[in-house]
Amino acid sequence: MSDSTPNTGSENTRSLHFIEEIVEANLRDGKNDGRVHTRFPPEPNGYLHIGHAKSICLNFGLAQKYNGKTNLRFDDTNPTKEDVEYVDSIKEDVRWLGFNWEGDERYASDYFDQLYLWAEKLIIDGKAYVDDQTAEEISRQRGTVTTPGTESPYRNRGVDENLTLFRKMRDGGFAEGACVLRAKIDMAHTNMFFRDPILYRISYTPHHRTGTKWCIYPMYDYAHGQSDYLEGITHSICTLEFEVHRPLYDWFLDQLIDTDYRPRQIEFARLNLTYTVMSKRKLLELVKNNYVNGWDDPRMPTICGLRRRGYTPESLRAFADRIGVARRDNVIDVGLLEFSVREDLNKRARRALAVLNPVKLVLTNYPENQTEWLTAINNPENPDEGTRQMPFSRELFIERDDFMENPPKKFFRLFPGGEVRLKYGYIIRCEEVVKDEAGEITEIRCSCDMDSKTGGATANRKVKGTIHWVSAAHAADVEVRLFDRLFKAIDPDDVPEGHDWKEGLNPDSLKVVTAKAEPSLTEVSPWQHFQFERVGYFNVDPDTQPGAVVFNRTVALKDTWAKVAGE
Ligand code: ATP
Ligand code: MG
Repeated sequence: MSDSTPNTGSENTRSLHFIEEIVEANLRDGKNDGRVHTRFPPEPNGYLHIGHAKSICLNFGLAQKYNGKTNLRFDDTNPTKEDVEYVDSIKEDVRWLGFNWEGDERYASDYFDQLYLWAEKLIIDGKAYVDDQTAEEISRQRGTVTTPGTESPYRNRGVDENLTLFRKMRDGGFAEGACVLRAKIDMAHTNMFFRDPILYRISYTPHHRTGTKWCIYPMYDYAHGQSDYLEGITHSICTLEFEVHRPLYDWFLDQLIDTDYRPRQIEFARLNLTYTVMSKRKLLELVKNNYVNGWDDPRMPTICGLRRRGYTPESLRAFADRIGVARRDNVIDVGLLEFSVREDLNKRARRALAVLNPVKLVLTNYPENQTEWLTAINNPENPDEGTRQMPFSRELFIERDDFMENPPKKFFRLFPGGEVRLKYGYIIRCEEVVKDEAGEITEIRCSCDMDSKTGGATANRKVKGTIHWVSAAHAADVEVRLFDRLFKAIDPDDVPEGHDWKEGLNPDSLKVVTAKAEPSLTEVSPWQHFQFERVGYFNVDPDTQPGAVVFNRTVALKDTWAKVAGE
């Protein structure tokens, strides 16, 4: 499954991960005056996903642990893909995860003036030039890992000409694509990123913050390290694919600054999850083409999707801690994410009874027209949450799966002649089964041991199974959305030649049922968490209206399903 060791210990007992080791070594050496200042630098071109959550927990977690600070900085250097909608959602998600950034949020665009001045400095120092070639020509001339690139015919322009041209670029004197500013480094460098990388390109798309002030925009590599520097960042943490960019990150700082303080780029392995796509481009395509119902569709791996599904910030933080921080790429079993939310909801979710696939059950010796109120425990993990009263009567609904006419050995639920306990109530025995013409069971008829409920003469009589139920006359119909994996394959990005990754979507990833719920489940508010006993964890969807409650299944109760499968 993965080559990292999932860490099941708590934050306090686990050993340091490699980035903590680096930070502690820097603190011992007094580097950067003993400051720890990290940043989370999303590009506002999509909603955040669980991979970003890992990066957020890492960056903010380090600052918390070492008494430091974390900036939120939008990497808004590409006006064509970015939007305020994304900025707002990102801020909301970071806050929801439980983190506060230092001061106001920052933007790479805050630094456009300084970045521009530094670009002029590079030109003046003979380290940058304006290239009139197209992006395609430039890309063709890059060479390969084994062959050197070709120098641009414009590479040896003089400083004055370059300055004039670059200012003309800035002032709107050229069409998009007419020219770019490039660093002048080494077209034969073994690191391809040193082969005269592009620093600025022209775009007339208005920017979501700077409007039309600029028509030249810095490239990520040129903007990122300098933004880190301007913010006083000490540890600039990013994913592994940036390892090869690091020498260039350092090169720019070497050319532009001469202070002792230096930000340091450190790379870690991005989070990959089984059965999940994490690329923003792919997630955007799912949303735009209505394969899902928006960014916050509970099947999405986005933070807002997981939130709507019923995941808690605590469960995501615990997950991030558990998977640890590795230096090598790995794939984490999505089951570990589900484990984390189960563990958290087990502590906080109020218990309730609901039947997802109901069949009628009649207690033949129970008085007609009688309603009794049975005491149910709200949360066995937290006695402070107390108890509630649940109506009980002659006709009930139970789960169709909890009955088998011809059960295998070790089936401890209901079958003809067999006994079970009704949760919080009586012991019953199945006496008879009623079927319709098609052979489908329409009613299960049972006798009830009237002395077997709490306090009764036979209350302590042992039977092997306990099943849940709701009183038919009192039950409420509620909508329940049952989610399954969005993709069928364990690695949805691994698509055979000639096929589209979207063919891997699971057509059965959403199933909607009408469940029978205990009456207290009609008095709920959106986002509340529940454990439907023996079934799973659910939360109240914001689609809920008065009289029309909608639940999402956050996750099934693993042990229940394991038991069902094993029987
Ligand atoms: P893009 O392809 O648009 O750059 P991205 O996923 O890298 O997508 P960013 O907005 O650049 O998105 O990411 C913000 C931060 O989150 C970066 O520091 C990035 O390294 C980190 N990050 C992104 N994806 C993951 C992931 N799967 N696991 C851990 N960190 C991630
Ligand atoms: Mg990125």
